[in-house]
Amino acid sequence: MSHDTQNIMVILSSPSGAGKTTISKKIQQKYQNFKISVSHTTRKPRSNEVEGIDYYFIDKNDFEDKIKEKEFYEYAKIFGNYYGTSKKSVLDLLKNKNDVLFDIDWQGTQQLSKYKELNLLKIFILPPSKEELKKRLIQRNQDKPKVVEERLKAYDADSAHKQDYDFVVINDNLENCFKEVEKIILKKKSKK
Ligand code: ADP
Ligand code: 5GP
Repeated sequence: MSHDTQNIMVILSSPSGAGKTTISKKIQQKYQNFKISVSHTTRKPRSNEVEGIDYYFIDKNDFEDKIKEKEFYEYAKIFGNYYGTSKKSVLDLLKNKNDVLFDIDWQGTQQLSKYKELNLLKIFILPPSKEELKKRLIQRNQDKPKVVEERLKAYDADSAHKQDYDFVVINDNLENCFKEVEKIILKKKSKK
């Protein structure tokens, strides 16, 4: 991966529903230089999701063609759908001297970690409890009950991967969590 050392690349991962998308969006809003890496997925869009902003929504055949063409830095199958980070979208962000935010899972984090030249900062977000996570998944009201169940079931296995990350932050109160993530990022940037 061609890489300009001035950029930092922050990975936010968590069990589904813990709040990483909400936090990524808050960082992007406050810090214009941070851009979220837009992934490709074969998942169907939620009603509030916008093509090219939340994801590039493509079908399974197109995704598998892109795998064959080696268009992804990393990809994974999660809850029965493919998700992946295309080389092109990241390189475009780096070219424009942006800092990059990745909202990807632990499998993608392991794959990106192999690029030793990257200035990665890996943060894992946890909910205060599994009960609260369930509430958030239901309250998000975007996934069918079976999908919510599947995501809850993955909680223990997903959480076990917190050890792969530089920092673990609990998202209880959203503002406090955001401030903590912000502090970690600013410290890393000041050390660059
Ligand atoms: P993820 O991207 O990790 O799957 P989201 O960012 O979509 O999670 O958050 C899941 C739901 O929880 C959303 O409805 C979001 O508004 C809500 N949420 C996020 N953080 C908090 C919080 N600290 N307290 C209560 N609800 C939250
Ligand atoms: P959701 O369906 O809730 O948008 O995302 C499900 C999971 O896929 C989340 O853990 C999210 O971080 C992860 N994800 C989203 N995009 C990518 C990607 O490009 N690569 C990988 N490995 N995971 C992704």
